Amino acid sequence: MGYHEIKRPRAGALRRGGFVYKFSFSFILFLICHIIFIFYFGSCTQKVNLSRAEFVLGTNCVVSLFENANVQVLKDVFVRLREIDNLMSVNIPASDVSRINAAAGVESVKVNEDVFELIAMAVYFAEISGGAFDPTIGPIVNLWGFNNNPSVPLQEEIDAVLKLVNWTDIVLDSDSTTVFLKKPGMALDLGAIAKGYAADETAKIITNAGINRAIVNLGGNIVVIGKNKDDRPWRVGIQDPNGERGSYIEVVEVSTNDSYMSVVTSGAYERFFEQDGKRYHHIFSPSTGYPVKNELLSVTIIAPNSMYADALSTAVFVMGYEIGLELIESIEGIEAVFVFEDGVITKF
Ligand code: AMP
Ligand code: MG
Repeated sequence: MGYHEIKRPRAGALRRGGFVYKFSFSFILFLICHIIFIFYFGSCTQKVNLSRAEFVLGTNCVVSLFENANVQVLKDVFVRLREIDNLMSVNIPASDVSRINAAAGVESVKVNEDVFELIAMAVYFAEISGGAFDPTIGPIVNLWGFNNNPSVPLQEEIDAVLKLVNWTDIVLDSDSTTVFLKKPGMALDLGAIAKGYAADETAKIITNAGINRAIVNLGGNIVVIGKNKDDRPWRVGIQDPNGERGSYIEVVEVSTNDSYMSVVTSGAYERFFEQDGKRYHHIFSPSTGYPVKNELLSVTIIAPNSMYADALSTAVFVMGYEIGLELIESIEGIEAVFVFEDGVITKF
């Protein structure tokens, strides 16, 4: 990751060997010519690297450009990411998703077209995963307190709230781009798909700007663009579910065919809390209302579209290895890496 740091002298004077030299006119002219030279030849050889990290979408987002980079592209990316956050976050009361949730069981809500499309895609993934992926999981996520103070709820609380989790109770009207949740108390949660969508939007901005070498990391949703500096496929590490952050259990080589590819992992280790010596994580079974418990520790999807990779990694994690694999095999152009509890890694 390259950072370009320009160290500026203190204005007006340079101190060297105990003497202060006042800037002369010719020295300033020399400096200006020098700066123009660096910028001109820097842009000609297209070697400028730029990287920027910000906390947005509830996570740390890092965008690194390795070719033809310019600050405006980074600005455009983060403006777009904030826009997406403001539309889709359940933690922002004025977001479209929060407005839909507040009107559950009461009225339909007119939403932004991008939000509508994303909800329609979430419904599609719910359908193809047999409901394992369910964007109406909100009441369960809230009950377990994953957005503030997590704890294990009572069984009767889970039973009551589970009645509100059902993706077939989402009513979409594409003519008016309105969304209606049939039952009061229902709540959408796009946490399993929104970062993927945002990563695709980021990739579009970067490639439209003619940048063909870049990496985007939106809290673990990775997009790689083009090839690495040696003109080889990017290598992306898959987190070791039992190791420290940044320790990899596997590294995958990702060929992009001159466009981009995404690598997204869903894992029990990403967000969790402990109570009475037991660990509870953030990916729920929509049929039991409990964190998913199967033989998997993580599922990674490699796909030419980050929204697909994001939704499918969550869906397949919930479905488990065998049924999840059937889903993956039914979709062209995607690969998967499964990490099992016993440490075995299986790739498709
Ligand atoms: P991810 O890290 O992409 O697998 O997404 C996990 C997040 O998606 C959680 O933090 C919840 O907000 C939400 N979520 C949890 N369980 C499900 C589920 N079964 N279907 C859809 N979203 C879920
Ligand atoms: Mg996901």
